Formats: sequence, C-alpha cells, structure tokens
Amino acid sequence: MENSKDLRKWLDDMALPHPLVIAGPCSAETEEQVLKIAHGLKDTDVNYYRAGIWKPRTRPGNFEGVGAIGLKWLQKVKAETGLKTATEVANKAHVDLALEHDIDLLWIGARSTVSPFIVQDIADALKGTDKIVLIKNPVNPDLSLWLGAVERFSKANIKNLGVIHRGFSTYEKSKYRNIPEWQMAIELQTRFPDLPLINDPSHITGKRDMIFDVSQTALDLNFDGLMIETHHDPENAWSDAAQQVTPKTLIQIMRDLKIRKETDEEAAYNNELSNLRAQIDVIDNQLIDIMGRRMKVSDGIGKLKKQKNVAVLQTNRWNAILGKMILEGESKGLSEEFVLKMFKAIHQESINHQEKILNS
Ligand code: PEP
Ligand code: MN
Repeated sequence: MENSKDLRKWLDDMALPHPLVIAGPCSAETEEQVLKIAHGLKDTDVNYYRAGIWKPRTRPGNFEGVGAIGLKWLQKVKAETGLKTATEVANKAHVDLALEHDIDLLWIGARSTVSPFIVQDIADALKGTDKIVLIKNPVNPDLSLWLGAVERFSKANIKNLGVIHRGFSTYEKSKYRNIPEWQMAIELQTRFPDLPLINDPSHITGKRDMIFDVSQTALDLNFDGLMIETHHDPENAWSDAAQQVTPKTLIQIMRDLKIRKETDEEAAYNNELSNLRAQIDVIDNQLIDIMGRRMKVSDGIGKLKKQKNVAVLQTNRWNAILGKMILEGESKGLSEEFVLKMFKAIHQESINHQEKILNS
C-alpha cells in the first residue's frame, strides 16, 4: 500500500486517551433492547456502538438477524446517545442500506474474509467511501487471505481501514471458541505497522469470564482497540449468549485494564532493556546453531536408513521423545502447548531432511 501512514489517520484524528472501544450486542433483537444497551454505554469509554443486523449463522434455523429495520434503531441510538454506529456488511445490498442509514463503521465478518469474490464485491460497493471499514480475520488461520482482503479494500480506495483479530477456528477442542494465534496478528502488524488493529475477545473466547485476560493480552501487544459484545441480559441474548457482558461489566473491564505505553524515554529502563535484548539475541543465535546441529545428526540417521531401506517415520520413538520433552519442558516452566508445537516443527524439519536423503 502506497502511503501506509495514512492508514492510521482516522484513528489518530480521534486523539483518544485510551484504546478504541466498540461495544454493543452480537445482534440487534428489538428496538427496546438496542436502545437499552446503548443507554447503558452512553458517556463511557465506548466510541462505537455495534449491533449485527444480518447474522452469518453457521447452520440454518438460528436467528438470522432483524434485517434493515435494525438500521433505523441504530440511527435512533446515534440521535439519543451520540454514540457512533457499526454493523457487519456481507454484500452490496447490505452496503447500500448501511450507507443510506449513515452507519459510521462497517466491518467485514470472518466468514466473508475467506472469500475473495465476496470481499471484492463488498470492496466495489464501498469504493471511495470515507466510512471506517474493519476487516475481520478469516475463520481459518490463513494470513494471505487476510492480507488479500486488506489489499482489495485499499485498491478500492477505501482509506479509513483497519483490521479485527477475532481468532481462528480449529477442529480440535480448545479452551477458546476461536484460538487467538497471536503470532498471526503480530505478523500482520509487522507487514502493515500503521494499520489499526482491533482485538475481538468475545469471539476469541466464547466465554465472558475469559474476556478480561484476552483483552489485557491484546493491550500488552499494543493493539489499538477492542470490540466487546455487550448485552443488558446476556443469558437471554438471541445469539452468542455465553460471551456477552453487561454494560456494567464492560465499564469495570475498561477500568481494570492496564493500558501500556508504546515506549518510555527513561535511560535506566532503556539500558536494562538493551542489555536483556542483547542476551536474547545471543540465545536466539545459539538456538539456530543447535537446530542446525540437530539436523546434521538427522541427516546421518537418514543416510543410515537409506542403506537399510528403512522408513523415515518411527512412531514409537517419536512418541517417546514427545512424552519426555513435555515433562522436561514442564520442569523449565514451558507449557505443554509450546513444547508440542516446537517439537512438531523440529520433527517435521527432521523428516524433510531425511526424505531428501532417502530420495537422493
Ligand atoms: C460478530 O461480530 O457478531 C460476528 C458474527 O463475528 P465473526 O465474523 O467474527 O464470527
Ligand atoms: Mn457474535
């Protein structure tokens, strides 16, 4: 993208004393519900009021949103509370209606970002708009799809862009509804350092009691804002009941979150930081060196197996290594999740090395 600094302008212009906050129900249900929640969020740190009007439900038969009538309720929210408004758009008809009703911020849902056709259609419909457009990560952990969507909107001359990190779905069960894979958001931030990055702890966790911790992690990682689903009666919400918090809880969360500075000028802090970073650099070099040595040994095993025509993968040996390393890792304060990930990656590299030798 040509002028990346321009990407931050819409956020910088707001000159907020805190991260950007987008809050409101998963879905607009009734006019009373929409207004009641909005009044609960009036005169707080909340900047944008969100409500889903068209709901992308994974399976049919669930509440699919109230449709265009909900846009009128959002207009009422703006008139009565002064809150700016936000909703999800998934096609040209949604875009046209949302613009007609002067919605201030439009977001692209995770199920739309996966499809370049849908993304292109929405980008064409929004061409040249000065509304804020936030692109959620795709449901699957594919950075290219996410980047591709950013590029399509940027090419459509949409200047006030940003992204929302809402986590990624997995086949395996985890404590999250959508695992955060923080590394993916960090990589996107590295590619587009000026693109505002918002965290959506509601869809990452799927559970209201985990929202605070994920929000704090996001702020620790320098995210620019939070989108948190909020409902006056979460248990009885028509969608995503388990993850919504009341306006009162949201206000408490905002009060308790620690906002980190990007940096500090103090000399002693910077000296100590440089010192620690120098140690990290040395250790990282050692890690690479030791991995290289490990793979050399793997090459030796590959040559040996080739002589005897033996298969590369030895499942029993591999399981024994994993079990041992998980215990070893635990004693050094490393999580099982990390040790598993690390050894799976090492094992894969080792297999690649041996494959190369066996087939040479
Ligand atoms: C939502 O924000 O309510 C929503 C449907 O989110 P996602 O696209 O992240 O699933
Ligand atoms: Mn939701």
